[in-house]
Amino acid sequence: MSYTNFTIETDSDGIALITWDMADKTMNVFTQEVLAELDAIVDEITNDEAVKGAVITSGKSTYSGGADLTMMNAVFERIQEERAKNPDGVAQALFDQVGTMTGLFRKLETCGKPWVSAINGVCMGGAFEMSLACHGRVAADGKDVKMALPEVKVGIFPGAGGTQRVPRLTNQQDALMMMTTGQNLSPKKAKSLGLIHEIAEPDKLIETAKQMIRDGLKPVQPWDEKGFKLPGGNIWSPQGAQLWPAVSANLRKQSYANYPAAIAIIKCVYEGLQVPFDTGLRIEQRYFTEILQTPEAYAMVRSLFVSLQELNKGARRPAGIEKTRFNKIGVVGAGFMGAGIAYVTAKAGIPVVLIDREQEAADKGKAHSQDLVAGAVKKRRMSEEDGEALLSLITPTTDYAALDGADLVIEAVFEDRGIKKTVTEAAEAVLAPGSVFASNTSTLPITGLAENSQRPDDFIGIHFFSPVDKMMLVEIILGEQTGDKALAVALDYVQAIKKTPIVVNDTRGFYVNRCVMRYMTEAYSMLVEGIPPAMIENIAKMAGMPVGPLALNDEVAIDLSQKVNRATIADLGEGAVDPRHVKLIDTMVDGHGRLGRKNGRGFYDYPAKPAKKHLWPELKDLYPQQDPDDVSVDEVKDRFLATIALEAARTMGEGIVTDPREADIGSILGFGFAPYTGGALSYIDGLGVKAFVELCDDLASRHGEHFKPTPLLKEMAANGDTFYGRFGAGAGIGKAA
Ligand code: NAD
Repeated sequence: MSYTNFTIETDSDGIALITWDMADKTMNVFTQEVLAELDAIVDEITNDEAVKGAVITSGKSTYSGGADLTMMNAVFERIQEERAKNPDGVAQALFDQVGTMTGLFRKLETCGKPWVSAINGVCMGGAFEMSLACHGRVAADGKDVKMALPEVKVGIFPGAGGTQRVPRLTNQQDALMMMTTGQNLSPKKAKSLGLIHEIAEPDKLIETAKQMIRDGLKPVQPWDEKGFKLPGGNIWSPQGAQLWPAVSANLRKQSYANYPAAIAIIKCVYEGLQVPFDTGLRIEQRYFTEILQTPEAYAMVRSLFVSLQELNKGARRPAGIEKTRFNKIGVVGAGFMGAGIAYVTAKAGIPVVLIDREQEAADKGKAHSQDLVAGAVKKRRMSEEDGEALLSLITPTTDYAALDGADLVIEAVFEDRGIKKTVTEAAEAVLAPGSVFASNTSTLPITGLAENSQRPDDFIGIHFFSPVDKMMLVEIILGEQTGDKALAVALDYVQAIKKTPIVVNDTRGFYVNRCVMRYMTEAYSMLVEGIPPAMIENIAKMAGMPVGPLALNDEVAIDLSQKVNRATIADLGEGAVDPRHVKLIDTMVDGHGRLGRKNGRGFYDYPAKPAKKHLWPELKDLYPQQDPDDVSVDEVKDRFLATIALEAARTMGEGIVTDPREADIGSILGFGFAPYTGGALSYIDGLGVKAFVELCDDLASRHGEHFKPTPLLKEMAANGDTFYGRFGAGAGIGKAA
């Protein structure tokens, strides 16, 4: 038979080589069609007497990305439609549907002939689950070969047998760790865990897989053998008694039970290992059905998979402009940010001219890349040759003439209008017409800076976050006169360096910092009210934020907050900043010399390593403290999430952000806004705009005007709108399932 997505070649030993290669996709994924074809292939292999066994591999450089989650998004939408029609039937219909893959893989592993998965590259999610159902697994030796069950990262879990097979192959602790974190496994790690059998040189991969069959690989899984024993002992064994009491406590410590899918993994393993394998699969199928109906799964798949992919592919790129292939990029200012920008640019294989006032400063900027490369080489994340090649692309200099021929120049000099003007003029004197000039300013509006430019249509903001090599988000800011060409070049650049762009209009603080400021200023109010600092930090984390607001402020620097306060008052007047906040920050900086992590003294103390940072004990002496029992944990959580979400909604109302996908992704990648919500606007949509408006009104009555819902929110609440319904991407999708 012939198939659209697979080819089959049977050799003289009767071993069928099944090659998965989807013509219209860069990566193989499971679609309905793929599942149907695979089902037919399993039948074909089983029934063809000439075939002794099968090796399945991929015809692409990667193996497979797993399930097509855009398809999953469609499932969510269908769930909602179905629920409206037949609320009781939804769960059953879903249960039957999610059983397809489970049933197929079970059929494969019980077909009576040996199957080997030959993993030649990235093998994720459902594809790894399929491999686990094969009787043999061999992976190519290479740094691009990775295996993982990463579903938890998008709010779901391995629901095609993964939760049952992994803990029957390896010990329960490693199984739980692997699935609840979604970590990548190298071939070596996967083998040490017992999840694959062999590692082969890439050009010997298929031969090694075939040899396993020739050597008599048994077509029976360990758990289908009589007398099978779990590798790490039973749940009710001394080892189990050591592990299990701590499992849920650990999960709560890490993620405060905000992620239902992670909890479901634990339940699947705990319950599934106490019953026969097929019953375990049924337990998994039930939990999977339940998880698919949670708002978290819906919101996380939409934001963290679908929207993220769309933005990465250039959803906001203007049409009709040829894609830029970068020959050279200039970075002016080789300080903290410029050095990082030079590194990520060179890492993408683009030559960089790194300019500073003194050669020594420019060299120091390059030294940052040397350090990062040395670290990566040491950890074997980069080969020495790749490291040298990267470094050879960075030319540190003081000479602006070296910018000649650059397609894009990014300035990251001091945050000073005068210096930025000088630099813009010096660069433009060398740049050919059509080259784009970008500012990495964090506070100065782009429209104003563009006044220094001879070509404001080619002037744009490209705002990185620190540390540049780690933060995946880049905020692109359009000045009033920024043209489509500059936007296209900026987006092409962000894509080239493999980061995620959001495109926003010009305003003080742009999008991300406006929202972050709210997070920190709410914490200032709480300090002033006498909420114990430890509660402020811990409850923020309970709400799903990765870093407490005071710890975050220490990273950003408290004297920077002071500068921002002063600049805001200078520009907008005394009332623009809460005087209680001004006093708090002035007391910290001027009164106690507490600048943040940079001087080892901020809201936290930073003792010498290995001691850990801890809250500054005297912080609680600045204000009379409330009794912790009187502090409502839920209200503190609501205040943090609501103040940020309200700011995001304000930026939508003002037309600063125009696409809810960008507001959501910007909030998660920019400052870790509770990812289980799907982002700041998905949080509002998930609650329902009406409920959010009621929450804000309630908070405003006790905590101040800044909680007052905006006119846009009130109007949306009255109309029953959602952000995604009203503003785009997911038009028509209603409240979370
Ligand atoms: P920095 O002080 O570490 O670096 C600035 C560099 O610019 C210095 O090396 C300095 O010698 C150089 N410089 C100054 N005048 C120059 C000139 N005329 N020509 C060439 N080089 C010159 O500052 P930074 O933290 O890297 O910030 C740089 C820019 O990035 C600022 O606009 C800042 O607002 C923005 N930014 C900073 C952060 C952050 O977290 N630090 C985040 C986003 C954006």
